[in-house]
Amino acid sequence: MLISIKNYIGGEWLDSTSKKYLDVVDPSRNKIYATAPDSDEEDVILAIEAASKASDLWQKMEVSKRSDILFKIAEGIESRFEELAAAESKDNGKPLSLAKKVDIPRAAANMKFFANAILQFNNESYDMDGQGLNYTLRHPLGIVTCISPWNLPLYLFTWKIAPALAAGNCVIAKPSEVTPMTAHILGEICHEAGLPYGVLNIIHGYGHKVGPTMTSNENIKAISFTGSTLTGEIIARTAAPLFKKLSLEMGGKNPNIIMADCDYDKALATTIHSSFANQGQICLCGSRIYIQRPIYEQFKNDLIDKTKALTIGDPTASNTKIGAVVSETHMNKILSYFEIATSEGGTILTGGKRVILDGEFKDGFYISPTIIEGLSEGCRTNQEEIFGPVVTIAPFDTIEEAVSLANSTKYGLSASVWTQDINQANYLSRNINAGIIWVNTWLKRDLRTPFGGVKNSGVGREGGYDALKFFTEVKNVCIGY
Ligand code: NAD
Repeated sequence: MLISIKNYIGGEWLDSTSKKYLDVVDPSRNKIYATAPDSDEEDVILAIEAASKASDLWQKMEVSKRSDILFKIAEGIESRFEELAAAESKDNGKPLSLAKKVDIPRAAANMKFFANAILQFNNESYDMDGQGLNYTLRHPLGIVTCISPWNLPLYLFTWKIAPALAAGNCVIAKPSEVTPMTAHILGEICHEAGLPYGVLNIIHGYGHKVGPTMTSNENIKAISFTGSTLTGEIIARTAAPLFKKLSLEMGGKNPNIIMADCDYDKALATTIHSSFANQGQICLCGSRIYIQRPIYEQFKNDLIDKTKALTIGDPTASNTKIGAVVSETHMNKILSYFEIATSEGGTILTGGKRVILDGEFKDGFYISPTIIEGLSEGCRTNQEEIFGPVVTIAPFDTIEEAVSLANSTKYGLSASVWTQDINQANYLSRNINAGIIWVNTWLKRDLRTPFGGVKNSGVGREGGYDALKFFTEVKNVCIGY
């Protein structure tokens, strides 16, 4: 019996108006286990109508009451923790242990963080030396669109919805069609938490079918998008001429710079994690590893050994480190890069192939974690986002060379640098062109900090007050003395 996911519109669970469905696949087995609405423009219009009806109530609700509801949603996520973690692992192929450690706790944390942040969010005032006083007011935008990808489904879905709701907006939200399950459960949680009907509307379906209305309708005031640079470009082309506010979190091709003086064991252990966590399907994964020459051979060999030791298998098994990649299409895309890399002169040091497991997992989409050496910085393998368990490695001599290599792609999301020398850390942090730099760590996240990329990785910043500023419109009031 397939699970039937529905759209959540105006507090009701609805099929798509066209009664069309799309299959939802468990990638660990290549098995259809659910269906989701294959929505189109009409469904989005229904959602916008529901949001329009709810908007006044939500905007005028006391901030503390909005905050209470968000806290209740966080409690709801926590009370369904096991179910959500299992659903995320099944939908996405990720290890259940990762969903329990990262995805679901972070979804609850997102809700709590913005439930709290909205209570602290303050306006500004500027005194004009006895001539007058300026103060700012911040108003909700009205109805906003939130679109998220499949790699961290509930984590990123809530990362957008929480600040949008906290700031007093009604939301039309779309999870990825590849991983709709936890967004569906979140609809139930919001319903039970007392979120007024129509404040959050969840539309399932293909981006190219529902996206145009979600990003161009005159009632939509802002679009917060996370996904590929290609889709971000399509959204910008649609929404920018309509003067809608845009926040775009897009692809990455992040460098790890390993200086010879680094804390070797820590750098090695974290590099394994930053390369292959979530099967390399985190926008912040380091996919280009540059190692200073004195330690290059040793680091390379140790990295290969540790990579070979990663257990690939049933995502629900406690010892599994590498689960399935998200879909057959995505698996084939990743596999195609092994041919590209080889044709570009690269040597696959380990991995580089599909892994066929036994029994019920024999048709699942598994790829062995892969390290490639010997490629030039300008080749496709080093320039294009692969978004899988694949890294390239190369040596460098000077710190200036490391910066030049780090900055050699069109992306600029994040970088990790490893050194014990504060001057080298500062030099790299200042000169690498990225929105986020980690020094001697990776993926350590403080939700108050600005999050986002430069160049083709992003426009705008999420997180903390940046997100609340994005989801509000500021007005300056000047009072003459
Ligand atoms: P994608 O761009 O294919 O899809 C993302 C979302 O956009 C999905 O919900 C999809 O249905 C929707 N979409 C597709 N076409 C659309 C259109 N024309 N209009 C509106 N919406 C549309 O990305 P993906 O494959 O789901 O996710 C992987 C990508 O996401 C990678 O490039 C990764 O780097 C990026 N990502 C970035 C961040 C970040 O914070 N910068 C975080 C996670 C993932």
